[in-house]
This record gives sequence, C-alpha cells and structure tokens, in this order.
Amino acid sequence: MPAMFSSSTSTGTMAAPLHFVLVPLLAQGHVIPMMDMARLLAGRGGARVTVVLTPVHAARSRAVLEHAGRAGLAIDFAEFQFPGPAVGLPEGCESLDMVKGFSDFALFYEAVWLLAGPLESYLRALPRLPDCLVADTFSPWTADVARRLGVPRLVFHCPSTFFLLAVHNVEKHGVHGRVADVLEPFEVPDFPVRTVVNKATSLGLLQLPGLERYRRDTLDAEASADGLVINTCAAFEGAFIQRYGEALGKKVWAVGPLCLLDSDAETLAGRGKIGAAVVDAGHVVSWLDTKPQQSVLFVSFGSIARLFPPQVAELAAGLEASNRPFIWVAKETEGFDSGFDARVAGRGLVIRGWAPQMTILSHPSVGGFLTHCGWNSTLESLSHGVPLLTWPHFADQFLTEALVVDVLGAGVRAGIKVPLMHPEVSKFQVGREDVKKAVAEIMDHGVAIRSRAIELATKARDAMASGGSSDVDIGDMVRHVAELTKKEDQ
Ligand code: UDP
Repeated sequence: MPAMFSSSTSTGTMAAPLHFVLVPLLAQGHVIPMMDMARLLAGRGGARVTVVLTPVHAARSRAVLEHAGRAGLAIDFAEFQFPGPAVGLPEGCESLDMVKGFSDFALFYEAVWLLAGPLESYLRALPRLPDCLVADTFSPWTADVARRLGVPRLVFHCPSTFFLLAVHNVEKHGVHGRVADVLEPFEVPDFPVRTVVNKATSLGLLQLPGLERYRRDTLDAEASADGLVINTCAAFEGAFIQRYGEALGKKVWAVGPLCLLDSDAETLAGRGKIGAAVVDAGHVVSWLDTKPQQSVLFVSFGSIARLFPPQVAELAAGLEASNRPFIWVAKETEGFDSGFDARVAGRGLVIRGWAPQMTILSHPSVGGFLTHCGWNSTLESLSHGVPLLTWPHFADQFLTEALVVDVLGAGVRAGIKVPLMHPEVSKFQVGREDVKKAVAEIMDHGVAIRSRAIELATKARDAMASGGSSDVDIGDMVRHVAELTKKEDQ
C-alpha cells in the first residue's frame, strides 16, 4: 500500500518568509494556471510554495517543477494518492479529462472531497503550519481544514470574472426560477454591460442535478474565504473585477494573465504535457515556420470538450474548403472520413493528442484561434494578440464568448447557440459553409478585431510587468497574507 502522501522538492532553498500551500482542482485547466501561480508566488520575495497533487498531475507537471527548480524557485509537490477507487472510479482516473460520463463526474467530485483528511494530516505533520492555503474554487473541502488549523485561505478562481459576476447576479435575482424554457433569452440583471443569456448558457459553478452538495460547499467556501485571487487583469475585466469584489464584500486580486510568466521555449512546450507528446514542439514550430505570418488558424477545444461525429465531419469539410493552413488538435476519433488527413496534407496539421498550445499561439504564423473559450485558452490567445473564433461547448464558455466578442471586441462567433448537453446537439450546429465563412471572416476581414487583440496583448504584458496592475495586485495579496499571519500569531 503506497504512503498517503510524499514530498518532492525542486530546490534546496527552503528557508523563506512565507509558505503557501496551493490546492488546484485535478483538471488540466486548473492545474496549469495553479502551477503558474506557484511560480509567481515563489518568485515574490522567495516565498516557499507547495502544490497539492496526485500522481497523474504530478507527472504532468514535473517538467514545470524541474524548470522552476533550475530557476531557483522554492516549489515542491505534496503528492497524495487519489481516492477514486474508494468511490468506484477506475484506478488511475484522477483528472477531469479522464472522466467518462456524468455519473463518473459526480464520483470524481466525491473522491476529490475525500482528500480533506489526508491534507489535514499532512499539514499537521509539518514542522510549522503554512501561512496560507490558496485553494481552487472547486477545492472548497479545504475550508474546514484551514479553519480547524487556523490557517488563512484564499480562493483561486480559474474562470473569467465576467462569468463569475454574471452567474452571481442571475442567482441573486432568482432569474432561473422565472424562466419557462432553458433556451428563453433574458438579460443578466444589474450587470455593467447589456448581456443576453438563457438558462442553458448561464449555469453557475457546479449547477447541475446531483452536484447540489458540491455547489453549496463551493459557494460557502467562497463566502468564508480571506480573499479571492483571479487569473485575469484589470485591462480585460476591470469593471467586472470591481463589481465582483463589491458583490461578495471581499478583497479581489487580479494577478494574470498567468500564462505570460512563460516565455522560454521549454516551459511553453512543457505546460501540462500529457505523457509522451504525439507531436514534438520542435516539429510544430518547423511546420509553422514554413507558413506566412498570421496565416494559420489554430483549432482546439481544450482538455475536456469533444464534438459529436456529425459536427466533426462538418468542421473538417469547412476547414478543407477554407483553403487555408490550419492546426487542428482533435481528441475525437469518429467523424473524419478516411481521406481527410491525406487531402489536407501540407496545409493542415492534425494533432491527435496533447498539443503544445502555448508554443503554437506564440508563433507569428498563427493568425486566429478557433476555440471553445475555456478561460485559459482565451487568456493565452489574447496575451499573444491572436483573435478568436468562438465555439463554446458548456460551463463558463458561453459567457466568456460574450466577453470576448461583445465587450473586448477581439473575436467573432462561429455560431454555436446551445450547450453540448442539449438534445439538438446530437446533429451539428455549425455546417461546413458556415465554418468556411467564419474562417474567412476571422482570417481575412477581421482587421479591427485583430488590431484589438494585438492592443489587448500589449495591455496584458503591461499588467504583468513590474508596476503593472497585476504585479501590484500580487504584491498586495502577499502583504495581506503576511498581515493575516501576524494577526494569527498574536
Ligand atoms: N492545452 C494544451 N494542449 C492541448 C489542450 C489544452 O496545452 O492539447 C492547455 C491550454 O493551453 C490551456 C489548458 O490546457 O492552458 C486548457 O484550459 P482551458 O481553460 O482553455 O480549457 P479546459 O480544458 O479547462 O476546458
């Protein structure tokens, strides 16, 4: 029987003024920014950072940990066994991208919640309690642990603040209880900009049948947190950040876009890498080097979303007809006709597996991103001045699409109307002709959208630079924790 936890260290320099313990949700879109957060904190005044992971994510994050160690950052992992088998999940199924079907989804959260006991034992066994827990929105099970130990706790939000504020307001005003149909349109109440949604596109955190307990814990843990940290910046979401802090009566620190911490080729290619890559980052770069500037459309829908086979067929036909170079990261195996890869060879690179997304988005030949609007993907695209062709699937993605297109003016809608769970989606929502038109719109005609994306990239870099809004916020956050720690000691 393996030990319940073990510890691996990136560097020997452990004597540091503050010790942060970071607890991400076990999902690519959460562990990747939390690893960035670890590097950001460890780079501030030599703080020491421990990231709580299980074996699958520890292996995926090892390259980033080792790179951080070589840079002299004091980061280590506390590695816990994932209690999935105890609740009926198959052995090794310990990341959201490995979960198949909704019933296993609920089991996954049940298993995640069981990590509270091992975390508390681990923290109690440390020579000195940490100064602060930074826990993902979806790690609310840390709230009782932190309270029992008297350790301050911050909530780390991975979605956009636009989404967080919108769903908060929809819930507060009880709008879902008043709509007859899930697709009936309504305006988000009391919102800084006019935004029309429906129930299907404005579900809040874990607002799904069977997950009520986890949702309640998540909202309670946010309400009792010592502050909120969000991977965003004032230039993208200033008005929403301010209003969210006011709505919750909390301090909010906007510390992103965290992806901008990555600039060297090795870290860009290694972020969240799953196993042996199906394609080498160097090969992708060489392929992109042969294409004109801003000519390539990058197509990827994140780590979880998958298209139904009829939609894969329409997207494939549309990309083929668009006559433009593209890189498509396809997790789907059905829907491609057998000759597709051969017909697009040279012009289209299909990656069937994990792709070095940041390497691709930072390449000057990439001129557009057909994306599901996951918040990390959105930030990564905007941070590199790449305009978005938006194709949301579920969760926060429809609201992030509205932010990108209607508020930031840096994207165009592909035409998705309803989330993946809706019965209509077993066919397809965007046909081949619409794909072709949308691709032409973003790649050829979207001059204003492109210049807006480039302008936002400059603002994002300014925010992260010394003295920028995100840099000031992270400094303030660290000072706040230091103050809280002093009070705890008194
Ligand atoms: N990602 C990647 N390669 C892939 C797929 C995803 O590097 O083939 C990264 C992507 O750069 C982003 C994260 O995985 O950092 C996905 O997070 P996002 O919030 O965009 O979407 P999610 O997967 O959570 O739906």
